[in-house]
Amino acid sequence: MTIREALKKGANRLEKAGVPDARLDAEYLLAEILRLDRLHLIADGGSVLTDEQLNAYEQWLARRERREPLQYILGNQPFMGFMLKTSPAALIPRADTERLCEAALSVLRPGMRALDLCTGTGALAIALKKLCPQAEVRASDLSKDALALAQSNAEALKADIRFYEGDLFNPFKGERFDLIVSNPPYIPQKDLPALQAEVLFEPMMALDGGEDGLSFYRRIAQEAPAHLNPVGYLMLEIGSDQGQSVPQLLAEAGFTDITVQQDYAGLDRVVIGRREG
Ligand code: GLN
Repeated sequence: MTIREALKKGANRLEKAGVPDARLDAEYLLAEILRLDRLHLIADGGSVLTDEQLNAYEQWLARRERREPLQYILGNQPFMGFMLKTSPAALIPRADTERLCEAALSVLRPGMRALDLCTGTGALAIALKKLCPQAEVRASDLSKDALALAQSNAEALKADIRFYEGDLFNPFKGERFDLIVSNPPYIPQKDLPALQAEVLFEPMMALDGGEDGLSFYRRIAQEAPAHLNPVGYLMLEIGSDQGQSVPQLLAEAGFTDITVQQDYAGLDRVVIGRREG
C-alpha cells in the first residue's frame, strides 16, 4: 500500500468513527510512524509502506477510532513552540492556554518569582522559564504522576524549575511571588459526562472543578493574596462562561485592576487581577 492509499483509507476509517479532522489526524499518525513531516509525507505519496509500518499505522488508527486523543497516541504536543511529552497523567496542553502564557510573559521580568499551580505537563512553567530565563519559576501539582511528567519535560527542555508535590499553596507556606498563574480544573461536575469523547481520556482530576466548576478559583482567590508581593499578579485560565463569576471571586478577595481576556475564538479565557499595593 502506498502512503497516498494509506492516508485515504485511514481518513475514511477515522471519519466513520466520528473523529473531527479525520484526514489531518491520519496524516499526523502516519507522518510520526515514518518520521517525516507532513509536507514530505504528501510529497512522497507514491512510496510503498513496509509491513511493519502498516502494522503500526493500523494499531494507531484503531486507538484513534476509539477516540483516544491524537496527542496521547503520538505522545507529544507543542506549547508555545516547545515540544512537550504527553500522557494520560496530565491534561493535553491547549492552544487557548497560550493566551494565559502570553499575558504572563507580558509582565514577567528578570529576577521576578513566578508560581504555576496545577502545572500538569509543566507547560506554563516551562514556557515561562524558557522565555524569561532570569525569572525564578516554581510549580506544583497534587498528582505525583503529573509531576513526574512535568519534571521530565523540564529536563528534556533544560528548563530550570523547582517542582513541588502538594495541594495548591500547601508546599509554599510563607513564600511570596510576583506572579501566580494557574489553569486549574474548572468543568462543573454535571458537565463532565457530556464532554467530547477525547476529553474523557484525560485525567478527571484535571477537569473536575467541583459542583459549580469554581471550587479551585474560590480557594486560589482566598489564598493567593498571602502568597503575592504587593501589586503582584494573579492570572487564571477560565471556562468560557466563567468571565463574570471568576472576576467577582477575585474582587471579593480584594484584588484590583481585574480584567478578562479572550481566546482565539473570542471567548472569555483569562482573568487577571493584582494584589493591592
Ligand atoms: N480546557 C479544558 C477543556 O475544555 C478544561 C481545562 C480545565 O479544566 N482546566 O476540556
